[in-house]
Amino acid sequence: MKKSHGPAFRKEAIDLAQCPACKGRAVIKGVFHDLACLQCNASGWVSVASGMALPLEDLVTQLSLRLQAAQRQINELKQPRAVGAEAIYQDNNRRGAGGTNYTGD
Ligand SMILES: [Zn+2]
Repeated sequence: MKKSHGPAFRKEAIDLAQCPACKGRAVIKGVFHDLACLQCNASGWVSVASGMALPLEDLVTQLSLRLQAAQRQINELKQPRAVGAEAIYQDNNRRGAGGTNYTGD
């Protein structure tokens, strides 16, 4: 049996709320320049449960999970609901980053 290092927490999405101190902007207006918001680790998000910033190592993962979910939504919105041959064609055509590149013939 192998013992894994570190805590065996499963990486689950934690409910995040907009940071009340910076209102989700991650920075606070200083006199001369913007300052990183300390209350949310300059992320703009705090844990709903605790109202506190997540530790950086958790924060990165949580932001990634959120970004991935958002990216999926964007991709779904971008894709027209194509069926049949058209769908296959678009699938083949979706190799690049743009996704919606329609090259015609
Ligand atoms: Zn903040």
